Amino acid sequence: MFPRSGREKRDKETTKSRSKNVLGNMSSPAPYEGKLCCAICGDAILPPTPELSSAERWQTEAVLLSDPDREFEHLEEHYRGGKKRDAKRLDISTAREIRKDRARVIEKDRLRIIAANQDGDADMEQEEVDSNRSYGREENGEWVVTPYYIATHEACLEVAETVMRRSPHDIAVRDLRTLWKVLRMRFKVDDMYLMSSSIEFVASPQRIQLPHSYYMPFRFAPMLSGSFPSGEIDRKVERWEAAYPLHVSDLTSAVLENLSSLPPATAAIPQAVSFQKRFLALPPELRDHVCSFLASRNGMPGTCNGLLPQWIWREVLLRGECLPFLRDLDVAVVRDFCARWGREHGSQEPNWELLVRKLSQEAWSIWDAESSSLKVPSGLRNRRRIWQLIEEMYVGDLVPVKRMMRVSSDHVVVPRYWDERGEVMHPVVRVQVGSRDKLRSVMA
Ligand SMILES: [Zn+2]
Repeated sequence: MFPRSGREKRDKETTKSRSKNVLGNMSSPAPYEGKLCCAICGDAILPPTPELSSAERWQTEAVLLSDPDREFEHLEEHYRGGKKRDAKRLDISTAREIRKDRARVIEKDRLRIIAANQDGDADMEQEEVDSNRSYGREENGEWVVTPYYIATHEACLEVAETVMRRSPHDIAVRDLRTLWKVLRMRFKVDDMYLMSSSIEFVASPQRIQLPHSYYMPFRFAPMLSGSFPSGEIDRKVERWEAAYPLHVSDLTSAVLENLSSLPPATAAIPQAVSFQKRFLALPPELRDHVCSFLASRNGMPGTCNGLLPQWIWREVLLRGECLPFLRDLDVAVVRDFCARWGREHGSQEPNWELLVRKLSQEAWSIWDAESSSLKVPSGLRNRRRIWQLIEEMYVGDLVPVKRMMRVSSDHVVVPRYWDERGEVMHPVVRVQVGSRDKLRSVMA
């Protein structure tokens, strides 16, 4: 179960999303609409064309996830075979890993799988497949059901695997199979009810719409509408949510640019002096352990308390335990920065505590990046967005929305085969479409 604060936050996000949708009616289609989108970050997976800029190329590199053990399909088949309260539990062997196949978009949701040759240094193109749908084909007179493929950006999958390994929080997704279950349940839990598509007349689902809209920033209607010639729009609106999230150039110096000077100390509080003395007397490994508790799912409070020396906060930043999305800071750049700061500011220290607190705060005003108090490269902001999306995932976090027919969704229920962490549920429960309250689910 999610902590109360998480649920409150999701409710708040839903409200934001609703208001955004109302405003969204004023704008023209977003750049990802009608395109195949990454199941993790929600932005477009682009076909590789010569017109793309170097900054966009990472969005052409896709991975197709698929389950060789077809766990979802077996559970679905079993469920349909007998929707009885006392139906036997189905034990499925899922010994094989979820497959990851590199691929490139050909058009819409059709991709070509790419495999490395034996030396691993050249690409060999393989078969063409459709993503995010069930289908089969005839092969040598036999009907073969193809794997269900879910497409993501290769970079987003790498971020996801890092989150699964390094997140210090109690998150639901810790392995690739659980990630697969999250995505698989979002796409389709019943043949009749497909995921919503941002363009309703497109035959297959192109993009999942989460209640918080994937933290996609709101763009004012005039910037995306026909009020400006298209070239002008592109120059004016920086789509940081489409920036490469992995290797961000000048990352360390850009983060350090946010450092301000520590204000002159007021009269020392005796209890604080005493705490600091006792803390510094601890062996380094115990100090590190104490500092590891600073990691907070909702971010640290923004107010500094001055209990720890500034160099400890600098260490907290560099170790990356509390800010695991920032583990690639360059220590040499930090050392040079400190030397320069010393020459320029004398004994006035940088406020490392304030910087760490700001960096820890959730999603950095992602709804309004331009007014964020943190000035960070777009790639890092996008990495933070994707990181947050992974940390919030759980199996069954989104029940499907009826796409084609407009009927009240209140009475529609769908089966759920796994609990939030991906354990098989027995017996299968059915949840109401559109309901966020899993406890009010009804038995099959
Ligand atoms: Zn992505």
